[in-house]
Amino acid sequence: MTTTTIELKPSSNPLSDAEREAILASPGFGRHFTDHMVTIKWTEGRGWHDAQLTPYAPLSIDPANMTLHYAQEIFEGLKAYRRPDGSVATFRPEANAKRFQISAHRMAMPELPVDVFVAACDALVQQDKAWVPAHGGEASLYLRPFMIATEVGLGVKPANEYLFLVIASPAGPYFPGGVKPVSIWLSEDRVRAVPGGIGFAKTGGNYAASLLAQAEAAAHGCAQVAYLDAVEHRWVEELGGMNLYFVYGDKIVTPELTGSLLAGITRDSLLKLARDLGYEAEEGRVSIDQWKRDTENGTLTEVFACGTAAVITPVGTVKSAGGEWTQANGEPGKVTLELRKRLLDIQTGAADDPHGWVHVI
Ligand code: PMP
Repeated sequence: MTTTTIELKPSSNPLSDAEREAILASPGFGRHFTDHMVTIKWTEGRGWHDAQLTPYAPLSIDPANMTLHYAQEIFEGLKAYRRPDGSVATFRPEANAKRFQISAHRMAMPELPVDVFVAACDALVQQDKAWVPAHGGEASLYLRPFMIATEVGLGVKPANEYLFLVIASPAGPYFPGGVKPVSIWLSEDRVRAVPGGIGFAKTGGNYAASLLAQAEAAAHGCAQVAYLDAVEHRWVEELGGMNLYFVYGDKIVTPELTGSLLAGITRDSLLKLARDLGYEAEEGRVSIDQWKRDTENGTLTEVFACGTAAVITPVGTVKSAGGEWTQANGEPGKVTLELRKRLLDIQTGAADDPHGWVHVI
């Protein structure tokens, strides 16, 4: 087959308009799924084959499926937004496709060609376009491309067959009541990723490893966890599902990509957009002592987190076993809000797209 040919086998029984509209009125996050999914198989010796768009349905999995035992799994996350003219666009899907290849390589899985990844996302969005919420209000259709091993067996080795899938789920606005700072629990002993490990890959194990610290954060009244590097327990890396930015007046700094944090596409976009807006934007190292000290001496004016889900989230209170401090009096900062609006305006088509990031479907 030519890998980009996706055979369309749409559902003869999609949800009614009324049922879909009822879901879109209050979608939450990741709770409802659209009528279809895309699947593409990979078999050793044959490569990618049998690309299909079919009705969304459960998978039948052998109990000895390798993914269930050894976690050879990777995923991506990107959003489709409704534009003012009614068309629909995703944001930098090629960047997700490239990161998917990087994750695949690290997990000893086959690399899906970038154009096939993008074509699979496009096919699903095209088919389920009615599921993309209306323009305005920050609601979107969240796309979840992922890949699992499908070989059956208990030997520990890279599998000889895989399944790539794309599913889609409508997502409500992250901050329905207006942008609010998030509170952060600083995990000083539990780490998320180690040098030479899998931190830069978007693979389920990294998220499984983060859940206990996440539960500790919740027990301390915090919504997110900030991780430090695993060697010195000193350098700030990222949150469980978002990258971090530190705002020093007109200069913004984000932790450099050491290999143990995820190269966020929002993070990368903001380095460029901040420079467009006249800020100095750089990658560097920020220690936890510096974070606390510079907040207290007033030079660190704002801190925000960024990622596909929330776009940009201001950081409010930071709590750790050794004490707590609060950024920007617990209010969303000026730079944080300016960058958030700029990026969201490009993503939703409310502003033009100077970097050619928007992919209209
Ligand atoms: N770090 C982690 C660990 C994440 O899971 C995510 C979400 N993909 C991010 C950062 C932000 O990445 P992106 O901007 O590409 O969504």
